[in-house]
Amino acid sequence: MIKIKFWGTTGSIPAPLQQNALKEKLLAALMETIDSPVKNKEDAEKIYHSLPSYVKNTYKGNSPCVEIQGLDDYFILDAGSGLRELGLDLIKRQEKKSIVHLFLSHFHWDHIMGFPFFVPAYNPSFSINVYSGHSDPELKLADQQVKHHFPVEMTDMASFKSFFQLSPEGFIQLNNVKIRILPLRHPGGSFSYRFDFPDGKSFVYATDGEYPSRELSEQKIQEYVRFYKDADLLVFDAMYTFQEAELHKMDWGHSSANIGVELAIEAGVKKLALFHHEPSNRDQAIYEKFINARKYRDSYCKNYRKENKLEIILALDGGIVELK
Ligand SMILES: [Zn+2]
Ligand SMILES: [Zn+2]
Repeated sequence: MIKIKFWGTTGSIPAPLQQNALKEKLLAALMETIDSPVKNKEDAEKIYHSLPSYVKNTYKGNSPCVEIQGLDDYFILDAGSGLRELGLDLIKRQEKKSIVHLFLSHFHWDHIMGFPFFVPAYNPSFSINVYSGHSDPELKLADQQVKHHFPVEMTDMASFKSFFQLSPEGFIQLNNVKIRILPLRHPGGSFSYRFDFPDGKSFVYATDGEYPSRELSEQKIQEYVRFYKDADLLVFDAMYTFQEAELHKMDWGHSSANIGVELAIEAGVKKLALFHHEPSNRDQAIYEKFINARKYRDSYCKNYRKENKLEIILALDGGIVELK
């Protein structure tokens, strides 16, 4: 018998289930089941909160896009599919801001595919400044919008766009925020960004980077440690398990939570966010990586007599971390 199976049904760009939508579904499931003893939303909320993290949360969603909130302009890291949702949110906020600073780690598709769907990029009242450690950022971003891939070319998007190549030597300053980059080991290269805010807080975004122990010299480790030094939050590529990163997926350009834990502890980082989740993992497997990362932190601190104060979190779409 011939069967037809749909493996993808959403138009334009993947639009995965978001945290709020999942919560609504779970609350509805609790209340709307036939003969459900759960009569009101309050009781349903109580049960929802008691559910295991990997049941009530969805860790896999949009591809990388992170916003720094609370500055004069919009600061955005990477233009993955999450940028579509962020763009819709920016329009809804109706703030007086019109300048977007977009910092790209690299031009792999998962980090730029949201740009053609970023609504502010079509608005002539927005100025979009794109920063990259790579050469020719304009050309590399425009490439995905040539006519045979997308109906609108980047030059036809009505916002005012400027492109800047950053150098790992030195820094730039925007909204009194000092911004530096560091190259990461990744096919084609990726760049980590460090933001030092006027109030003394700092944030490092380090995704798509591999730190293979077979070739990691003490000098190289110290280079990373210096860049991640005392960060209040380090967003780190923890796509693989340690075994995968070291044995099975060598040179694939990604790392594990264990490497992140070690570098974060050595650098005195306060909070480590595990990021760039493996798409083939189920939520429970991703949650297990997080639990194992905490165990690894405890044993690492015990073995090397380090103060055990690193907080580890699992990044998820819609999650907010306050730097305090
Ligand atoms: Zn990549
Ligand atoms: Zn990636």
